[in-house]
Amino acid sequence: MSETRSTCPYCGVGCGVVIEHDGQQITGVRGDPEHPANFGRLCTKGTNLHLTASPVVLQHQRLREPFKRATRGAAPQALTWDDANREIADRLLAIRATHGPEAIGLYISGQLLTEDYHAFNKLARAVIGTPHIDSNSRLCMSSAVVGYKQSLGADAPPCSYEDIEQADCVLVSGANPAWAHPILFRRLEAARAQRPGHKLIVIDPRRTETAELADLHLQIRPGTDVALCHGLLHAMIRRSWTAPSFIEAHTEGFDALKTLVHDWIPARAAQVCGVPESDIWRAAEWFATSPASLSLYCQGLNQSSSGTAKNTALINLHLATGQIGRAGAGPFSLTGQPNAMGGRESGGMATLLPGHRDPARAGDWAEIARLWGVDAADLPGHRGHTAVEMFEAAARGEIKALWIACTNPAQSMPDQALVRAALERCELVILQEAFAHTATARYADYLLPAATWGEKEGTVTNSERRISRVRAAVPPAGQSRADWRIVRDIALRIDAGLGRAPRLAAQTAEALWLEHREATRGRDLDITGLSWATLDRDGPQQWPYVDGATSRLYTSGRFATDTGRARFIARPYQPPAEDTTAQHPFSLTTSRLRDQWHGMSRSGSVPRLFAHQGRPQVRLHPDDAARRELAEGALVQVRSARGELVLPLQLDQNVATACADIPMHWGEEFIGAQRGVNAVTQGAFCPDSKQPELKFSAVAIEPADLP
Ligand code: SF4
Repeated sequence: MSETRSTCPYCGVGCGVVIEHDGQQITGVRGDPEHPANFGRLCTKGTNLHLTASPVVLQHQRLREPFKRATRGAAPQALTWDDANREIADRLLAIRATHGPEAIGLYISGQLLTEDYHAFNKLARAVIGTPHIDSNSRLCMSSAVVGYKQSLGADAPPCSYEDIEQADCVLVSGANPAWAHPILFRRLEAARAQRPGHKLIVIDPRRTETAELADLHLQIRPGTDVALCHGLLHAMIRRSWTAPSFIEAHTEGFDALKTLVHDWIPARAAQVCGVPESDIWRAAEWFATSPASLSLYCQGLNQSSSGTAKNTALINLHLATGQIGRAGAGPFSLTGQPNAMGGRESGGMATLLPGHRDPARAGDWAEIARLWGVDAADLPGHRGHTAVEMFEAAARGEIKALWIACTNPAQSMPDQALVRAALERCELVILQEAFAHTATARYADYLLPAATWGEKEGTVTNSERRISRVRAAVPPAGQSRADWRIVRDIALRIDAGLGRAPRLAAQTAEALWLEHREATRGRDLDITGLSWATLDRDGPQQWPYVDGATSRLYTSGRFATDTGRARFIARPYQPPAEDTTAQHPFSLTTSRLRDQWHGMSRSGSVPRLFAHQGRPQVRLHPDDAARRELAEGALVQVRSARGELVLPLQLDQNVATACADIPMHWGEEFIGAQRGVNAVTQGAFCPDSKQPELKFSAVAIEPADLP
């Protein structure tokens, strides 16, 4: 038996794992005691990870060879890699020649490794020449990216996991780490036991397991986070709990924000948010006056039509109180996916370029052209469609070909009716996937089998900017190949078809990583002092890494803005994009379960992970159910302006009245002919981050009228 160190492929905590195997079959997995994210611990998903690579899963659930469909709706037929690569390259070239490069879109994933991201980025922008590349990370953390950039000048989460142990007050906002980031929650629990007087404040419309642990739970009305932050800041200013010397020395824009929050007296904020005024005063005092205050936040802030404003409103609290740049203090956005951060670094998104460059700047495109050895005129030179925009463009017929990798938009994107119409309208849909039975696979003209966890080499970056190696322990299942290699082989054919030298020719994951590393030189995320050998010898490292790792940013009080000063962002409170009405009286949120991951293509193959919750349900407060004479377990219809679905009802005191909650994980494979929760969610998005509002949709809930 052998052991191979790697990284868990599920969440953004990025725990180290030791894979036990015989060179052909993975037989077990345990936590890596030397990995600084988890020190040997694993959550339920991680503990059962090896079961997702069982012989049954490898044979029956993995996509093992390339397939094509002669026509839509036909049964897929196997073909060789050579034929698949040639045909796909020819069809992309034909669409490019007829409609131009911008008729091709690429929709990729935070599950991909940094090297895969880099390969896709070059394929899109340098080989095909389209700006339309975006990632499903758009759905989970793009508001955090823009929030950091607006407030602090760079997309650089300033904190580290060790800050959880060093904080005296932790404010968790729009996150449930007990279920979504379990190992960080264990660290938080342990820290509370070690620090007498520790304060935990949780802001969440739901009473989650994280909220159960809190000293103070602010159970706000959905979507009112900005109003609450403004009320908290008003209280801090009124009671002189702010840090004037920090504001004076290290920030700008405080006067405008002070004017904005002048009218947000805690009584008003309490009324808007639906929480006791006294709790706002208490939270403000704890956060501002604790020696070190840390905030942890995730989708509850990000997945909103005012997601960026929610992020910056929270960062305002840190800047006003000087709770940043010190041990245990700072705004710490948690990433959902294992390599959402790597996607940000490598710029594999419509609004980013490699090395935290900006597609709105011509000079940044010129630098990328030099780094990639291509003529700047060959690159698109502008930002492309973000996730929702890309599917809208495909539905209008502007995008003719979609190349989708490692994600399942026919389940995970909001407003499924539009997304599926877009997939149907495309002339060409290529799906690059490890798993055979996703909802998106039905729309694919070509299915390309991708290697996955335990079978491929590369790197990922977790929430604390820590780069970890992902290593192959066993050969890829069937004929599946590393994602970057699939991309490279088709890129070579496209370049040959255009009669030019290869623009993506790397032979190894390390070679791709070295190209990515060079793009960070002189940037805030500079890792030019880090080598593949150092990662292998010394283990995971945080960026920036020039002369050695830096664990905490902005310790000098100088920020990444042009002036070196952090910016207070004064944005008024805006309610969600749609409001509840008499016709649609409930605000619906999507949520994550403790033991499942995304659309379940991996976690759904492990029966024991259904022990925690075995079926999809809509959760409702018992008072709301009683008013409608709905009983526990009854089938109810959940209906919005966009669609409907039928689910069993679960009564739950922890859901606020007039609210409803449906887990994001189930799709049609699990609910018959349904489309999962995204049948009813909305595509409205934040104007700054383009992140859709998955945490608020107005719905009706009524007895199901079944035949
Ligand atoms: Fe994997 Fe996240 Fe669990 Fe760690 S906390 S074992 S990274 S799922």
